[in-house]
Amino acid sequence: MANRIKIAIDGPAAAGKSTIAKITAEKLGYLYIDTGAMYRALTHKALVNDINTGDGEELERLLAQTDIVLLPSPQGQAVLVDGQDVTEDIRSQLVTASVSAIAAHNGVRRLMVDKQRQLAERAGVVMDGRDIGTAVLPDAELKIFMTASVEERAMRRHIENEKRGFTTSLEQLKAEISERDRADSERDISPLRQAEDAVLIDTTAMSIEEAADKISELAEKRISL
Ligand code: C5P
Repeated sequence: MANRIKIAIDGPAAAGKSTIAKITAEKLGYLYIDTGAMYRALTHKALVNDINTGDGEELERLLAQTDIVLLPSPQGQAVLVDGQDVTEDIRSQLVTASVSAIAAHNGVRRLMVDKQRQLAERAGVVMDGRDIGTAVLPDAELKIFMTASVEERAMRRHIENEKRGFTTSLEQLKAEISERDRADSERDISPLRQAEDAVLIDTTAMSIEEAADKISELAEKRISL
């Protein structure tokens, strides 16, 4: 069998990383890991337990006692927290608005990164997030930095939300996405940035299929090296 590699896909919010990472993983028969879902899972549990998003120590303690499981599912990935299915809950507006504050804590990131590295130990993995190429898997054989204009990203999220049955204002989505990008890029620990050896893919004018094909093509090249 061809050698199996690690693929890191980073980029700003709603750039299509998860959808494309999932398609790529399916094509290659690789494991897909959505690290954003892990930060969202912790955020959901913190909100349920009324823990302040600014209390890093308490959040770290909470994470240490939390079992987060990602399972492949027809919709992408099911997320279980302590055995409970929270796949839908972690996409709520409240979780989305709170997750960047929680992900900024050093202790939280340390535990998450440990867990993510363990998950990636079995090579043949596509992992998406903000710091995969720079911090979690710096030795990944293929690194992608995926972007799109904020207008395009807000529009995609708008359409996605409508399909899920709720209407959101485009302007509000644009503001939320920009704010999350700002928070993720300006934090002290592992901020969102392109790794030096990452390939930049701007998907503003690309379809999902085109972007997925491009990544598969790059992956095939790396695999055959
Ligand atoms: O990818 P998604 O938009 O679901 O990520 C939610 C949030 O989780 C991000 O806005 C960011 O604050 C955090 N995150 C992170 N590092 C990752 C993945 C996500 O800080 N590797």
